[in-house]
Amino acid sequence: MAKLIYSFGFGRAEGGAKDVEVLGGKGAHLAEMAGLGLPVPPGLTVTADACSHYYANERRLDEELKKQIISGIALIEGETGRRFGASEKPLLLSVRSGARVSMPGMMDTVLNLGLNDETVEALAEDSKDARFAWDSYRRFIQMYGDVVMGLDHEAFEEILEDEKARRGYELDTEMAAEDWQEVVEAYKHLLDEELGAAFPQDPHAQLWGAVGAVFSSWMNARAITYRQLHNIPEHWGTAVNIQAMVFGNLGNSSATGVAFTRNPSTGEAALYGEFLVNAQGEDVVAGIRTPQSITEQARIDSGADRPSMEKLMPDVFAELRAICARLESHYRDMQDIEFTVERGRLWMLQTRAAKRSTRAAMKVAVDMVEEGLIKHEEAVSRIDPSSLDQLLHPTIDPRVNRQVIGHGLPASPGAATGAIVFTAEEAVAAAEEGRKVILLRVETSPEDIHGMHAAEAILTTRGGMTSHAAVVARGMGIPCVVGAGTMRIDIRNEQLIGTGATLKKGDVITIDGSSGQVLKGVVPMVQPELSGDFARIMKWADEMRRMTVRTNADTPADARAARAFGAEGIGLCRTEHMFFEGERIHVMREMILAESEEGRRRCLDKLLPMQRDDFAGLFCVMHGLPVTIRLLDPPLHEFLPKTDGEIAEVASAMGMEEKAMRERLDALHEFNPMLGHRGCRLAISYPEIAEMQARAIFEAAVEAARETGAPVVPEIMVPLVGLRSELDYIKARIDAVAEAVMQEASMAIDYLIGTMIELPRAALRAHVIAEAAQFFSFGTNDLTQTTFGISRDDASAFLPTYQRKGIIEHDPFISLDFDGVGELIRIAAERGRRTRNDMKLGICGEHGGDPASIHFCEEIGLDYVSCSPFRVPIARLAAAQAAIVMRAN
Ligand code: ADP
Ligand code: MG
Ligand code: MG
Repeated sequence: MAKLIYSFGFGRAEGGAKDVEVLGGKGAHLAEMAGLGLPVPPGLTVTADACSHYYANERRLDEELKKQIISGIALIEGETGRRFGASEKPLLLSVRSGARVSMPGMMDTVLNLGLNDETVEALAEDSKDARFAWDSYRRFIQMYGDVVMGLDHEAFEEILEDEKARRGYELDTEMAAEDWQEVVEAYKHLLDEELGAAFPQDPHAQLWGAVGAVFSSWMNARAITYRQLHNIPEHWGTAVNIQAMVFGNLGNSSATGVAFTRNPSTGEAALYGEFLVNAQGEDVVAGIRTPQSITEQARIDSGADRPSMEKLMPDVFAELRAICARLESHYRDMQDIEFTVERGRLWMLQTRAAKRSTRAAMKVAVDMVEEGLIKHEEAVSRIDPSSLDQLLHPTIDPRVNRQVIGHGLPASPGAATGAIVFTAEEAVAAAEEGRKVILLRVETSPEDIHGMHAAEAILTTRGGMTSHAAVVARGMGIPCVVGAGTMRIDIRNEQLIGTGATLKKGDVITIDGSSGQVLKGVVPMVQPELSGDFARIMKWADEMRRMTVRTNADTPADARAARAFGAEGIGLCRTEHMFFEGERIHVMREMILAESEEGRRRCLDKLLPMQRDDFAGLFCVMHGLPVTIRLLDPPLHEFLPKTDGEIAEVASAMGMEEKAMRERLDALHEFNPMLGHRGCRLAISYPEIAEMQARAIFEAAVEAARETGAPVVPEIMVPLVGLRSELDYIKARIDAVAEAVMQEASMAIDYLIGTMIELPRAALRAHVIAEAAQFFSFGTNDLTQTTFGISRDDASAFLPTYQRKGIIEHDPFISLDFDGVGELIRIAAERGRRTRNDMKLGICGEHGGDPASIHFCEEIGLDYVSCSPFRVPIARLAAAQAAIVMRAN
């Protein structure tokens, strides 16, 4: 028989941390903690494989699984001295979901399972606390009714509110045993009414219902969305943990809480967490009551007056602190834990690697190297390259006067400005139209996940640092302020009422996720300082990296920014951008519209000094680093006048009849410009354009070498080559210009001529093209377009549908298509090097800044990646990680 359950208990466990794939994260680490002898309520984990069986078996639990679960429960009974379903000392269970990776709040959990009309009396008797027993029972019916029977929890909450109001109570804590008893009756009645189904009294029936429901929650809508957002495969399934209950709601010496072994926002090496006295389970996460700090220091820092756990329960706190230290040194990483205190006794309910802000991740990694817990390579490997975005983005200028209209907890760092919206749907709609919005919610729930993703930032008025909004925002790397209790959200009138300001939907605010402040309007921002921990991690990364990282930059300003981010050259300078500025566009238009070579040359003579200045500026900034310049690439009509006004203006400037002008424009019209008269085809039709550009490049190289003393080696890149003869033709022209400029300047210039590989034919004929090309740069935007035959500009009409229908997993323009486009790159690299073994190979498409694509580039041995300036640090880190992985293999 296949082993479908793994049990754990006091100082023993069948599984451990290594079994995450089988037991899910929660189960594996519960087992690990139990094995370490930490206080974990005994339990068992049903494997994720059983989840697959469940789906294969038309969502039914088979008898073998039930048998194994019952034998596992017998072990729990042995260790706790309680019996499941017994009318004396009944064993109550929690049934908890737990997939391979944590999916916070996405799937379901049922607590207090095993309670019924009989066992509730036994629990009251046994605990000497009837109020607790009936409270637990009503919680159970509510959770079971929601999760297993499918009646929305709001219906239960309404009843509870009515019952409290009827008695004139404000808080749940005012309810007495008898009151809860009446709520239980009302709940049962509700289920009968709404579903025509009785609440099941048989504990085993409850158990099978709950296990099935947890399996089923793997396929609920929010879990499916979460998996799509995080690329989690559906076939993994979830494990189920069945565990003895411990009770945080047994009076004032009981509590429940969550903690981080270090501060998840700053990374500071101090325990950080929140707890609630006399509370159960999800009360903390749900943000229903505002929790208290665990440590005294955090309480003081936050200015809260309710006592910390450290003050209130010093012994339990000391034990918790010791366990956290133990877990950190055991896992060699920062942990995020859940615990419950039952009448002064501490129980561990979960541990996992903690989600943290990028800033915290940097600090923790650097600190742990210093503490001797981890090595440099591990520190570098632990930072998610994409998350550097958080650090690289602006924060509020400290010099400005802040018009603060409210504040809350600084849940996720960074600042953002946007118009306020009150629902996730509005946030999604706004993002689709390209509007920047801030999502306002009283508290968020997993249903809001889409809207959270679409928003620039999130603001809630309830909940703590571990509330859903806080955890999810930190994970996504978007700024977030939670528990802004000084502000009020009036959903009905779509208003946000803050200090000295009432804002309507669409009004603009700025939130500062690092201080917790909410500001009115647009606020000036500053670029972050890239020093300290960031600089140290990047230095280590640079030492481990094999590929160089260049940037795509067209202007000296971009180039300067990129160098500050660590760029080691320019991988792509798009010269066409230079022709749109100021009066150049007029000269450019004249040139394009000119009827003769002579007319074109006249215009090119005017463009030459401008273009030379552009390149000289760029070369000076780059100070001897390599610079790849691409010759004019887009179809010429992109530069031409479009509106009637523009056409009239250009016609009169050129002394042309408007009618003649329109005829010329019509003649230049193309049906499919992406595949039309562009790239090297322009240089073949009008070699004088390429000659002008080459001259500008060489003259600028001379100028920059004289000025800086650091000669650049320009790399001239011919776009859209498919035939070797195309390259030969243009190369001859460039070489001739180089010869002339060297003569004129009496100075030798080193330069390379290469091509972009962006057509399948070029990739396939790379060995032949390499005879003429000294380098290849993979232009993966066009190569993706031409390989798929999908127009980049029209893809948005159908690619999202493809993704939704599961036809493709990723947008190939964002994540390189390794199988198809990647195969062509592989072929081109290999064939190119066969001809010229020192061939320089790089990538300059959008993918050059995408970590997964960078791994691919490392794998096939490219020399460099090139990406936009802001992504340079991301690429440096990703390249280092790729090199580490390659060395390990
Ligand atoms: P999630 O994955 O959503 O965090 P969990 O399975 O961790 O769900 O359960 C949520 C909460 O329920 C836990 O944080 C804990 O407070 C409570 N809980 C779970 N199991 C037990 C248990 N055996 N005893 C007491 N409380 C429990
Ligand atoms: Mg949990
Ligand atoms: Mg967003």
